[in-house]
This record gives sequence, C-alpha cells and structure tokens, in this order.
Amino acid sequence: MASATASFTTYATGSFIQHAFSVLKILVANGKVVLQEPLRLPTTSKTNLIEGRMTGFLFNLSLTHRYGRNILRSDSLKLLDQLDAMRKKTRQIMIGSVAVGGGAPISVQSMTKTDTGDADATLAQIAQLASAGCQIIRVAVPSKSVIKAFAEIASSSPIPVIADIHFDYRLAIASIEAKAHAVRINPGNIGGEKELEALSRALIDYGIPVRIGANSGSLSEKQRRKIAASVSDRHEAMAAALVDSALEQCRMLERFGVEKIKVSLKASSVLSSVIAYRRFSRLSDYPLHVGITEAGSLYSGIIKSSVGIGALLLEGIGDTLRVSLSADPLEELRAAIAILEAAGLRRPRPEIVSCPTCGRTKVNLLEILDKVEKRIEETKKNGRKFKECKIAIMGCAVNGPGEASDADLGIAGASGFGAIFKKGVLVNKVPEAELLDSFFSELEALVEN
Ligand code: SF4
Repeated sequence: MASATASFTTYATGSFIQHAFSVLKILVANGKVVLQEPLRLPTTSKTNLIEGRMTGFLFNLSLTHRYGRNILRSDSLKLLDQLDAMRKKTRQIMIGSVAVGGGAPISVQSMTKTDTGDADATLAQIAQLASAGCQIIRVAVPSKSVIKAFAEIASSSPIPVIADIHFDYRLAIASIEAKAHAVRINPGNIGGEKELEALSRALIDYGIPVRIGANSGSLSEKQRRKIAASVSDRHEAMAAALVDSALEQCRMLERFGVEKIKVSLKASSVLSSVIAYRRFSRLSDYPLHVGITEAGSLYSGIIKSSVGIGALLLEGIGDTLRVSLSADPLEELRAAIAILEAAGLRRPRPEIVSCPTCGRTKVNLLEILDKVEKRIEETKKNGRKFKECKIAIMGCAVNGPGEASDADLGIAGASGFGAIFKKGVLVNKVPEAELLDSFFSELEALVEN
C-alpha cells in the first residue's frame, strides 16, 4: 500500500553521440520499490537536463532540450496504469450492472433530492444525472407510503437504484421486495440482531448487496458516550467509533450469511473520515464507498470533499464515491467526476488548462475560456466524443505556449491578435475577432469521428 512517504529517484546516463539516453525510473512507496523500469528516449543531441516532479503519487518525468523545448512528455499514462494497480484490493460486489470493488473502475453516485413518492419527478432527476455520468443512484425510502413509487423508480431507472433506509428494517425488506438493486442501512439506527436477521434473509433471497453506512451524525448512544468520554483527540475518537460501528454490523450480517457488503464511514470532519477509512481498509477487504457527509454548500463542500476523498483515492482507498453537497445533485456529480480526474483515476476528454492571468494578459481570457468550455460541453451534449487530449487557454504569447507546451491545441492572447499553437509550436496568428472561429475549426480535429 502506498503512503504519503512515497518518493522517487531518476537518473540518466548517456552521451551525445549515442542513439538514446538510458533513464531508469524508480518509484518508492513505504520504503519499497514499486516501479522500476528503463525508459528508452529518442535520439537527440544536446539533451542534458532531466527533471522529475512528484505530485502526490503521480510521477512526471520530462526531458528538456538545452534550449528549453520539452521533447518528451512523461509516459505518465503508463505510470497511472501501474499506480492504479496499487489500489487497495477489495472484494467485488455488483450493484445491478455496476461492479464495485475488486479492481473495477471507481464509480460515481449521487442521491435524488425529490420526493420519492413522486415517481415521475424522481425518475426525471435520475435521467438527468445518468446522462451527466451518474452510475448508481440512491433514493430515500422514508416511509411505507413511498414503496409503490419506489418500485416504479427501481424498475424504470436507467441506472441501479439503492434504497436508503433509516430506523425501520421493514422498509429495507419492502424495498428489496420492490426490486431495489441494493439497500443502504445505518448501523446506528437499524436495530439489533432480530431485525438484522430478518433483513439478512431478504438480502440473501434476492441476492442483492447492502451498504453499511456508518455516519457521524447517527452513531449509537453507546458510541456517542464513548466519544464524549474521550480525553484524547476527538477526530481519532470519532474515527474509532465509525470503524467499531461498521465492523460490529459487518460481523452480525456475516453471522446471518450475508457476504455482499459495502461499507462507508462518513464524518463531516475530513480528518475523522480519512482516519476511519484508512483504518477500516487495513482491517477489512469489503469495498468502500467514500465521501464526506454533510460537507456543506457548493463551494465549501467541494473543497472538503476534494481534500478528504482526494487523500483517500491517492492512497488507493475507495471503490465508489459520492460528493454530498447542499446543492443541485448535478453539482455533486460534476464534483465527483472532477475529483476522479484530478486524482488521475479518470482521464478527462479533453483536459483543459488555463493560465491564471497576470499583468501580461492582453485578451479577455475569462470570456474566451467560458466560450471554449461551452463549445466543448455542446459538442459532448450532441453525442460527439473528444479524443484524449489537452487544451490550453493562455493569456499571452510570451509565456503561454511554453507554459502549456504539451497541450495538443492552445490559444495564446496578444495585443489585437491571438496565436494558435499545437504542442508548444505556433501554427497560426489571427486577429482577435477571428480567434475563436479559427480555434473552433482546429478543435474539430480533436473530436473522434
Ligand atoms: S500565460 Fe502569460 S498571461 Fe498567463 S499567467 Fe503566464 S505570463 Fe501571465
């Protein structure tokens, strides 16, 4: 398992008359070499500078020409594949048609915010989320009165539906009978052995999984007393309570023969959550649903979730995730996908980089960026896909192309005109008024046929 102590070393040997440099890449985690391989570099003269850079667990190697031109992009895609293989190995379960754990790609989920009793409104929200990339949806089942609507939702949803249950195990059983693809229970309020035994029978009969969703807001009275009595670190005490609560529930369900289990250990504190997930992942191989509960509003919630979920993902922990925001569920989904992309676990198509602007900026960069993003969204909405590529929107022609030299296509603004560059090389100069039209026609080449 990788840890935050990962470090790397690179070195090169070679001479200007040889056909290639020989570079050895070594990635070390927890004192162990986890990746070591020779890299053949292209023939080049006067190549004399090798730079290594570490971003979390992502390793970038670039070979830079003496005169400043980057001639080799790191083969970070291959490295990402290898780092992916370092993910914590968990058992695999199926939520409907979506595999969770056991090396399956990390899935994103959200939760409907409509009245479950209104099947039409709930299905409309699910359809919207599914078309934006949501893979699993959770729907609250707060009372018996919504079971009929829930059955309609579960049978008509384009993605698997998890019934979210609190307090009453009979609602979980009724949801299972209504063809839920999984149920989520809260160990703090679902009841004791008798209730879990009845629920286990239904889970086994219908062959569906259960998520044990430990949550800092609804720990049992016993756990709350333990935290209150804690004289040491409260984050630590909360994490311990979440782990104990989930493990206890796992053991009870296992006793009744349930094997398809997924676990979450969510606290509203990032620290407590991260400690809890780390600890649980050392003790169990059940797949983990990661997230920060009640993270907050759009801005603060995304920051808390990115820090917490991002830290776990970079350590190889997490099989499926939800970002919980006091906001439109589409925002939860966008944030979840962006976190996976930022962690290098999904490849954005395209990746967009833009300069922060400074005193050299000569164009309205924010407006240009906005229009480019809208064009890309429109293209995707029309069912067209981008190749794996990087697009750069830079404010000046002095540093822009150099700063984004590995971009497949870019714009660099200048006074009265704009430059279009590919892989750091200027290919066209056009008046500012024509810049976007020229850029959009070049952009077409990055769309798959
Ligand atoms: S690309 Fe140019 S305008 Fe943008 S931050 Fe860098 S120097 Fe400033």
